[in-house]
Amino acid sequence: MRLENKVAFVTGAGMGIGRAIALKLAQEGAKVVATDIAEETCRGVVGEIESAGGTGLALQCDVSNGAQIDNAIQKTVAEFGRLDILVNNAGITSFKPILELSEEEWDRTMNINLKGQFLCAQAAAKQMVKNEWGRIINIASISYGGCGIAFPQVAHYTASKGGVVALTQALAVELSSQGITCNVICPGIIDTEMTKSIREGDQLQQLLGRIPKGRTGRPEDIAHLVVYLASEQSDYMTGASLVVDGGWLTT
Ligand code: NAD
Repeated sequence: MRLENKVAFVTGAGMGIGRAIALKLAQEGAKVVATDIAEETCRGVVGEIESAGGTGLALQCDVSNGAQIDNAIQKTVAEFGRLDILVNNAGITSFKPILELSEEEWDRTMNINLKGQFLCAQAAAKQMVKNEWGRIINIASISYGGCGIAFPQVAHYTASKGGVVALTQALAVELSSQGITCNVICPGIIDTEMTKSIREGDQLQQLLGRIPKGRTGRPEDIAHLVVYLASEQSDYMTGASLVVDGGWLTT
């Protein structure tokens, strides 16, 4: 129970990596606010948390909407009295050749993947400074542009995740003196709805050949690292980018 008495706020918690993170944080004793644009999915996750004896709160929250974020953070503090851990997980992707990528799709991706992380971090940090303790954990991707690997048809996604890594470092520098750390996880390919078309497509065997672990990742592979970053034990880590990719980048 490494997170007893802590309150965690997870975005995009209704399914995939966010769901696994919410469940794992609750298993470690945190009270978990599971938020998602799709309210019924985070209600389901909170049902799972409560069935396992944990404490949770489900809130609808679109991370591209500042008013909804402020409202959700206020409800968190009203319910649990504090906020200690933010996991900026919500994200979207789509596949579009650069010559066909519309301004609208670019803006939608940036608003959810990058602006959303800024807005959530700002709103959460305003609560964390009151206790001079906080953990902000952002989710980027190995395809953020700094790992020497890039994929076609995702320029908007790649740019948004590059922004997330840069934002993480900026937050770490500004908030460290107030007891708040900020780190970013860069997953490889993880078994979720987001990667279903890749995992069920012809490229899977070729892809697995490039991953030394010989398998795609599970959402729990990310959730375990989130628990560590959320705990007291990670106190001397901030501004770090951590790759979880089964060894892909070493090949
Ligand atoms: P997913 O599509 O399975 O789940 C994403 C969740 O985010 C869904 O519950 C969805 O409803 C929610 N969401 C979407 N738009 C939202 C919004 N505007 N506000 C709030 N919630 C919203 O995706 P996933 O694979 O679990 O991805 C989670 C994070 O991990 C994303 O940031 C993604 O970019 C990142 N990531 C995933 C992989 C992978 O292989 N799956 C790899 C690298 C990075």
